[in-house]
This record gives sequence, structure tokens and C-alpha cells, in this order.
Amino acid sequence: MFVMRLFDTHFHLDLYPDPSALVTEADQAQTYVVAVTNTPSVFESTQQLTATSQFVRPALGLHPELAVERQLELPLFEHLLPYTRYVGEVGLDFVTTDARDRAIQQEIFRKIVALCHASGNKILTVHSRRAEKEVVQAIGPTFAGQVILHWYSGPLSVARQAVENGLYFSLNPAMVRSKRFADLLAIIPRERLLLETDGPFVQIGSRPAIPKDTAIVIRALAVSWHMSEEQVAQTLFTNFRQLLTLPA
Ligand code: MN
Repeated sequence: MFVMRLFDTHFHLDLYPDPSALVTEADQAQTYVVAVTNTPSVFESTQQLTATSQFVRPALGLHPELAVERQLELPLFEHLLPYTRYVGEVGLDFVTTDARDRAIQQEIFRKIVALCHASGNKILTVHSRRAEKEVVQAIGPTFAGQVILHWYSGPLSVARQAVENGLYFSLNPAMVRSKRFADLLAIIPRERLLLETDGPFVQIGSRPAIPKDTAIVIRALAVSWHMSEEQVAQTLFTNFRQLLTLPA
């Protein structure tokens, strides 16, 4: 029997009441999971939680909405960076209109991008709400590593620029319900698409999303592309494999 290979490039494992159970579940289902964190100070506990897992990987993050409050953790970020290939959640969030807050976010994000560029082989999952243009600019066209724009909701013109710069896009179950989904699919090449849940921030009914809910995205893509779910899953899993093995 064909087993559908699922993977989740953006999942907040540490925000669930029983993270170990979710690690066990992902291992049993052979679902690859990038366990993002929002501050460097929680990276080590997530690292411990995933230490024996074959499928769940901890990511080092500094969430833009916590950037002002946690800017003193930037040296810790730098210290921990050699211990992981995965970086997230990082990025910019310009829902705030506070100029100082935005400036601090940009300073931190630029430093993170520079540190990752210098290491050369990192995989970043990046938040860009209302700051899509600034995020794509900060990463630039020659970044040494791989970048996934997570839950992209910005202008299509900026998405085109991101495609041109070689960036990936991860799609979650909340995105498939939006009108923008079809617009994005029309301009992003299939080989640049990946899966995510952003659980627990994405909900399925009244419960937080978990990695296997990426099947909802597969189902929606199968309808859009007139392909079987197995074919879609295979296509996206190939993208994921490629992302992991691509040289910087
Ligand atoms: Mn997130």
C-alpha cells in the first residue's frame, strides 16, 4: 500500500500540553516535523524533547512579535545557531505601527539573516505579516541557505519577487480556505511549495492543528491540480527532500 508522506515545516510543538505524545505520534506516522520555537531560551528544551526522534527537528527562533521584549536573547541565538540546521520562527511583523518596534525587529532580523548566511546551510521558516516586501529584501537574491515563507499573505508582486529569489512557500490548512490561495498557486511554481500547519495557531474546527492535518492542504491541491492526493503528496515530499539536500 502506498503511504502518503506528510511533513510539517512549521509547527509549535512546545505550545502543546503534551509535546512528547506528539513527537511519538510523528515518529510512528513517519511525518517529518520542524518544531519551531519563538525565543532562543526555549530551544534547548525543544532540543531535549526531540533528541531521540527520527522525524522531529528543533528549530531556533526569535519571533518578531517578541523581538522587542526578547532582544537581549540575540547573543543566545548566536550561541545556539551551530547546534541546529533549522531556524524559525523568525521574520518581521508590521501589524504594529510603532516605528521603534519595527526598527528593532528589522535590526534583529537583519542580524539573524547575516548569521545564517555566514553559516551557509540553514533552513529558515519566516514570518512576514504586513512586512512581506521588507522580509524579501532583507533576505535578498544571494542568501546562502534555504528560506521558506510561512503563511504568506502579502501582495502577489512580492511573492513573484520571492519566487525569483529562490524562496519556498509553505501552505497551511487555514490558507486553503482563503480566496488568495488560488492566486498564489497561479504564480508559485509547484516545486517551491511545501506544507505546514502553524499549529496551534491554526485550528481545525475547535482543536489546534497537528502535523497530520497537512493532509487538508494535500486534498485542496489535488482538487486545484486535478491530481490524486497521492501524486500531490509525492510532489510536495520531493520538494521537501530537495530542500534538505540542496547545497547552499
Ligand atoms: Mn508560527
